[in-house]
Amino acid sequence: MEAVVNNNEGPILPSKGKKRKWIYAKKPSGKLYNYRQWVGYSLLLFLFAAPFIKIDGNPFLMFNIVERKFSIFGNMFFPQDLHIFVFGMLIIMVGIVLFTAVFGRVWCGWTCPQTIFLELIFRRIEYWIEGDWTQQKKLNEGPNTDARAWKKLLKHTIFILISCFISNIFLAYIIGVDELLNIISDPIDQHLGGFVAIVIFTGLFYAVFAHVREIVCTTICPYGRFQGVLLDDQSMTVAYNVERGEPRGKLSKVKESKNGDCVDCGLCVHVCPTGIDIRNGVQLECVNCTACIDACDEVMQKIGKPSRLIGFYSLGEVEGKKNFKKSYTRQILYSVILVLLTSVFLFLIFNRADIDGSLLRATGSTYQTQPDGRISNLYTIELINKSGKAIPFELKPTDSNYTLQLVNQIDTLTKDGSAKMSFFLITDKKNIDTYKTKTSIQIHSEGKEVNTLKTTFICPPGAKN
Ligand code: SF4
Ligand code: SF4
Repeated sequence: MEAVVNNNEGPILPSKGKKRKWIYAKKPSGKLYNYRQWVGYSLLLFLFAAPFIKIDGNPFLMFNIVERKFSIFGNMFFPQDLHIFVFGMLIIMVGIVLFTAVFGRVWCGWTCPQTIFLELIFRRIEYWIEGDWTQQKKLNEGPNTDARAWKKLLKHTIFILISCFISNIFLAYIIGVDELLNIISDPIDQHLGGFVAIVIFTGLFYAVFAHVREIVCTTICPYGRFQGVLLDDQSMTVAYNVERGEPRGKLSKVKESKNGDCVDCGLCVHVCPTGIDIRNGVQLECVNCTACIDACDEVMQKIGKPSRLIGFYSLGEVEGKKNFKKSYTRQILYSVILVLLTSVFLFLIFNRADIDGSLLRATGSTYQTQPDGRISNLYTIELINKSGKAIPFELKPTDSNYTLQLVNQIDTLTKDGSAKMSFFLITDKKNIDTYKTKTSIQIHSEGKEVNTLKTTFICPPGAKN
């Protein structure tokens, strides 16, 4: 198979002095589009439901960057959990690179929220109100009638309402659904900042889905711009089989026709949401939505030719590279790496201690000699509650030779709260061998040990004797 590879980086953008070419995409249909709808609507359901789901009183997902509180699967994360967060970000980045290297830009066409919102919500409303692409074009290029004004008013009102809904959901991910409900139900002046945020995000989403549209994918989104470096010979992408399709030409009844299978119907171009012609080769503007595969398969079926004149092919096949051999080793290897990384991440999340903290010897102090001759060290402990509920706790020395004497008594951590305490560790000189002895403090809660913090105990040299 051979094809032209067009790495044309110029999107369909209004260059200087030129007007932007508005894309009227034909309503897609077909097997892959049905699958895409299943995937897309399931993801939308998850996206809309996730902030409302609570586990032990914590949101299923929340990314409160303002208060630096995050919730993943109902587990609260604080700045102290930075390592888990960084690891999570690393997995996402590695995942994107590996996934793209293997499956190309499938993320863009099938799972990216931008595409799902645009193709499965906004564009469908447009089809419903203004009709398919030819009717939309006619309406926009036609005279300014009352019917046209009403249609536009209805469409944009619905667009604004949906944008407002998305804006609320977006905010629920950031500040949590309880705070969002407060903003909605309380008088505006009590949550002016929140109200302004909703208005700004509504405007932003409306602008993106009603006007900017495919320019987000072809120009603004950095992921799209990285495709060139992320893809290689083995990467799968939507491509046109030039060898089979060319020379293109109208369907001929003549048996000896030298034409290829492409009947030049243009349907693959009409359905394309980014307005490209996939027959010109692999292009960065292609979001791998597969609408052109469906369109072409339907044509092939009608004319009695095999399907997949446009299909999923590896770049090596498309470019017609000599000695190119399809291999699945990399796909398997990358998937194994991703599964391993994700397992470690999940392990870190679900095995995190309910109470975390830091334990330090009091600044500037070494040891004290008690009236009864025993040696004591003064410590400061800072605890943070990560259990998502109020939790009782108790401190115990791991080594039974030590006695723990609290300076200030705190025995419960409030939900998401923290506590700072001081205490003495006291022991008999005879228990100590060295100047600095390693020891630790256990944190117990509801009958079980939830964490152990390490420290050292200082005792004067030769104290044992
Ligand atoms: S070329 Fe095909 S797969 Fe690519 S964006 Fe256009 S319709 Fe979607
Ligand atoms: S849909 Fe298929 S047959 Fe029609 S122009 Fe595109 S590639 Fe050719």
